[in-house]
Amino acid sequence: MPDGIDARQACSAIPPDLETRKDFERLNPIARNDAKLAMPIIPREQHTISRKNISKAALRVLYRLNEAGYDAYLVGGAVRDLLLGGHPKDFDVATNATPDEVKRLFRNCRLIGRRFRLAHVVYGNEIIEVATFRGASEEVGVEGDRHIVDGRIVRDNVWGTIEEDALRRDFRVNAMYYDISDFSVRDYVGGMKDLDNCVLHLIGDPATRYREDPVRMLRAVRLAAKLDFRIHPSASAPFSELGPLLSGVAPARLFDESLKMFLAGHGLKSFRMLEECKLLKFMFPATARALKRGDEALRSLIEQGLENTDARVAEGKSVTPAFLFAVLLWGEVRDLAHTWGTQGKDVNEAWARAAAHVVAEQCQRVAIPRRFTITMEEIWSLQPRFEQIQRKKVFRLLAHPRFRAAFDFLLLRAAESPAIGELGQWWAHAQQLPHETLAAALPLHQANATGEAEPARPSATRKRKRRRKPAAGKSGAG
Ligand code: ATP
Ligand code: MG
Repeated sequence: MPDGIDARQACSAIPPDLETRKDFERLNPIARNDAKLAMPIIPREQHTISRKNISKAALRVLYRLNEAGYDAYLVGGAVRDLLLGGHPKDFDVATNATPDEVKRLFRNCRLIGRRFRLAHVVYGNEIIEVATFRGASEEVGVEGDRHIVDGRIVRDNVWGTIEEDALRRDFRVNAMYYDISDFSVRDYVGGMKDLDNCVLHLIGDPATRYREDPVRMLRAVRLAAKLDFRIHPSASAPFSELGPLLSGVAPARLFDESLKMFLAGHGLKSFRMLEECKLLKFMFPATARALKRGDEALRSLIEQGLENTDARVAEGKSVTPAFLFAVLLWGEVRDLAHTWGTQGKDVNEAWARAAAHVVAEQCQRVAIPRRFTITMEEIWSLQPRFEQIQRKKVFRLLAHPRFRAAFDFLLLRAAESPAIGELGQWWAHAQQLPHETLAAALPLHQANATGEAEPARPSATRKRKRRRKPAAGKSGAG
């Protein structure tokens, strides 16, 4: 369920007083029996969710809980997506059983999270997340394990009723529950209506909900992009004032969120919405800056990169975060490298420094793991090497483990200038040629024109000398 819970933190900090059923009863708000909230129950024959479309693992969890006497509901994005006729990517379950009770019921279960304690029930590579209903705010006078610092929830383990649980979710469309005991859907907050109107409303006062958890702003953008919904003006109005709160969010959580935005098949739309909502600068300041300089070629490079990524996801092909982040940050790296290069720095050093600089700044916002930043830096630093059409260098580049990614990146850069476009074609062609033909077609020394688009004709290189150049000065050349 919510956010980047660090499984490694696991249950080390679980307060012992939440461990037993008795404590659960004690901590449960009196409001459990409060009928203040209406209970619109949509019976099976009036909605479209069929068990056929629910994963076997999720059904098993729901039935087991229910047979043990607990309430068990499918909830959140899965219910929303099933009602929209889609295929949920994960299935979350909500119940009145405490995490420890869930653990007792399932052998294949582990408890995770500190901010939100959750049970993960594992079937092969499918994980069903089981969350205990969360309680309402302190006004109810409950004692419990909720900590709020500067309006932000830092820990939240107050158990509650299903109605309270609904109110604590982010959007109305995310707060519907599918009841395994009678196959009805419970809609306490008007989610069904929003689904019909293709709109996202936040539950409660938007500013308060964003202050509690600023990532909800990004979730609004991501969901709107994914579902092709609009964000209701009441939910987007606070963005300009509260957007800066995103800088207080853990960078690791923003990394998770950015993957969900850009690598889940709706990256282009997410990007456009982020920009439109003026939130891009809080996640990718360098990208926002470069685009603000009015670089239209960069915009088309990013959009093309995201479009290609979306297409790959749609075809079930693999996508790498490294390529995506290399695309997003390219403008700033390139401009810095040029600036430093023209200030008399060695070209390679200028590129390396520009890459390191941009990565360091970005990682303060979005914690891109090192294994990806290494690849990004390689993709960038290989770009100037595509211009070096010389036999040894060409073969060295072709053999580079990151050649494929760097070449794909070069193709994206075609929008930058016709010369880069031609260079891309040259390399596409060069890869098709047999080794000997290519070798024969390449000059031994660097061609002077940057934009030589064709391999030199074999006849032109016939005169090449077999002699080795004694003082080439290149280290480690074979
Ligand atoms: P997706 O299709 O991307 O999985 P989702 O809505 O299912 O979308 P999850 O991150 O899987 O997103 O979260 C599951 C549910 O948990 C949400 O539907 C929502 O009800 C609740 N939730 C998640 N994050 C938050 C949050 N930050 N604040 C409040 N509720 C949240
Ligand atoms: Mg989900």
